Parts: sequence; structure tokens; C-alpha cells
Amino acid sequence: MRILVVEDESDAARFLAKGLRNQAFAVDIAVDGLHAVEKAALATYDAIVLDLMLPGLDGFAVCSQIRRSSNMVPILMLTARDSVPDRIAGLNAGADDYLIKPFDFQELLARLRALLRRRPLLESPVLEIADLRVDTHQQRVSRGGATINLTTREYSLLEYLVMRRGAVVGRAEISEHVWDETYDPLSNLIEVYVQRLRRKIDQGFPVRLIHTRRGEGYQLTTEEVPGV
Ligand code: CA
Repeated sequence: MRILVVEDESDAARFLAKGLRNQAFAVDIAVDGLHAVEKAALATYDAIVLDLMLPGLDGFAVCSQIRRSSNMVPILMLTARDSVPDRIAGLNAGADDYLIKPFDFQELLARLRALLRRRPLLESPVLEIADLRVDTHQQRVSRGGATINLTTREYSLLEYLVMRRGAVVGRAEISEHVWDETYDPLSNLIEVYVQRLRRKIDQGFPVRLIHTRRGEGYQLTTEEVPGV
């Protein structure tokens, strides 16, 4: 899943991005409010971590502008002050939750996951299809009870496909949610990663789960798709 981190202090932004990438999130960074609003309009983020104190447009204004464009992306606001008026203003501006700085990274992660779980795609921390099991909190994958070791990116891709299980997922959608803004749409990275996942997830199992829908994308399903 892809997260936008909005934070003008570069150390804090790097710390957050690194921590989230370690947890298999794709992360983009915006260093001020204007860029945050621009990025939120251009890409489909699964959540936004938004610092309140920003140069130019502050977090409240960013939040209001994003909501005014009918974008309901979950927003976790970071505030340096434990002030009740700030919290109320943040929630009124459309933030879903807030966290007071300095915060513990594990708490940020827990709150972020709680926000992501409110969305229908990730109703439960453990996702399953047939005998494939994906624990989205531990980033652990098993099939038929046997652990499967994946790289962070392989895991992110599989997690997204499992969240959308049953649906045909196009490459544009995959790149939006699994890669960050540095993704080159002309590359064949998605094919490469799907091949790697196939080897790890499907090879040696009687039921194939990862199917290619030519010209459309990929589908995680227990049903054989004709013509592939
Ligand atoms: Ca700041």
C-alpha cells in the first residue's frame, strides 16, 4: 500500500519513510503543503501521514483542500502540541486521527493500520485465499501452512493482489498502490515481480492462484482462467 508522508523536517520525513518502507509500504514524501495537495490529486494514496506545522499551507489547510476535492483517503495528522483546539480543528478539517509528537513509531504504525482497516479492502489483518495466508501486520506469508519468504516488494505486490482477490487488477492500479512516484510506467518491473511471486506462491501447488488476464492485468483466484 502506498502512503504519502507530508513533513517539512527532512530528518523526520526520512525516518518515517524508512520505517514505513521497512513495513512494505510504498512511500512518497511531500515537504510542504502545496506539494502535498498536488501529490494527493495526482496519485491514489492508501493513507496520508500529515504534519500539522508546515511552511505555507499548514496541515489544516492541506486536509481541507484534499477533502474539498472529495478525496476520502485516510489522514493521520501529526501535531507537536497536545492542544485540544488543534485536535478539534484537525478532526473538523477532515483528519481521521491524530498523533502527538514525539511519538513512538510502533504507535504510528498501529494507528495507520487501524485507519487502513476501516477501508473495505483490508477488513482483517489476516487475508486468505484458498490455502494462502497473508498476515499484514507481521508481513508473513504461508501456503498450506509452509512459510514463504518474500522480499519487501514481492510482499507488497502480493498483499495488494490478495486485498483485491477475485478482481482483475490492472498494471496502472498496481503501480499506484505498490510502487512510489519513482516507478517508470515503461518498465517491466511488474511482470518481473509477478513471475517471482508465481515461482514462490504457485510453483509445486496443484491450484494456481496468480493468473494473467491478457491485456487487462492480473487476477488472484482459485478458478482457472481460460486462455492463459
Ligand atoms: Ca513540521
